[in-house]
Amino acid sequence: PRPSYMYKVVLLGSMSVGKSSLAYRYVKNDFRELLPTVGCSFFTQILSLEEATVKFEIWDTAGQEKYQSVCHLYYRDAHAALLVYDIANKQTFSRAKLWLEELEKKFLPDEIVIALVGNKTDLAAERVVTTEEGEDFARTKGLLFMETSAKSNHQVNDVFMAIGELWDGSSPRAPEE
Ligand code: GDP
Repeated sequence: PRPSYMYKVVLLGSMSVGKSSLAYRYVKNDFRELLPTVGCSFFTQILSLEEATVKFEIWDTAGQEKYQSVCHLYYRDAHAALLVYDIANKQTFSRAKLWLEELEKKFLPDEIVIALVGNKTDLAAERVVTTEEGEDFARTKGLLFMETSAKSNHQVNDVFMAIGELWDGSSPRAPEE
């Protein structure tokens, strides 16, 4: 059998950018009004890649406006972070930069895979953050970049696939039994 790896992904970003909706779309392939996340929650999802099976543990939390999580195990042993903003809300894009600074305090550069995710591409008429702005920022910081819509299911699987494929097997916690 193929080796199986646990892969912890943390969702970061301002309130209402669609973090829970992205997780819900990926795991349940559905979109609906979700109740606000209370404390910490996580979803799990299996991704089968050619050489391995990746078991995602996707962590989501409320109360992130102060750049600190209500859940103290939130960042611990994370393999990847999705830095989510809303393409129709400029402030959430600026906040993503602050979230990155937070991550840089907690992890060494090669310790964690970071993807910048511009969500809500279905709101094209309300877009205020251009694709180029997102791309430029991601390129400068060496982040993966993708634009998604949890609502219309645009590139949601692709985000998780992309970070899953960056798995380099170097974590001491892998492979999982
Ligand atoms: P969170 O606070 O970051 O977890 O955001 P939620 O997932 O709770 O979503 C906040 C609001 O944005 C809800 O009303 C969602 O229905 C809506 N939302 C989330 N993703 C999308 C999307 O891709 N497109 C649109 N139009 N709305 C979205």
